[in-house]
Amino acid sequence: MSETATCKHERLEILAGITVCVSLPGDAVQHEPITMADLKLTCAECRTRFQFNGLPAGLSLYEPRVSIDGCELHIPVQPYDGTLARRATFEMPRDRTREQN
Ligand SMILES: [Zn+2]
Repeated sequence: MSETATCKHERLEILAGITVCVSLPGDAVQHEPITMADLKLTCAECRTRFQFNGLPAGLSLYEPRVSIDGCELHIPVQPYDGTLARRATFEMPRDRTREQN
């Protein structure tokens, strides 16, 4: 049995980088440079890569996106300006949701 099959993936490493995007192919409008935070997660023991779930694949200067294999997360970031989200949602684990119904 391989190390990956027996590993519990209890210790993850994060690889983070910053990219400054000036434009994307096809951009019709000139915009201010946008800073992107780029993240990857890997198990420190067996080197298994982790996928980021729930986000579309691609690249956007305005919303988080993942690479085509889901293993790279690209998040546009900006200095915090004091603005709060207008709404927030919280999803319970699916097993608990069934217990409450
Ligand atoms: Zn592992």
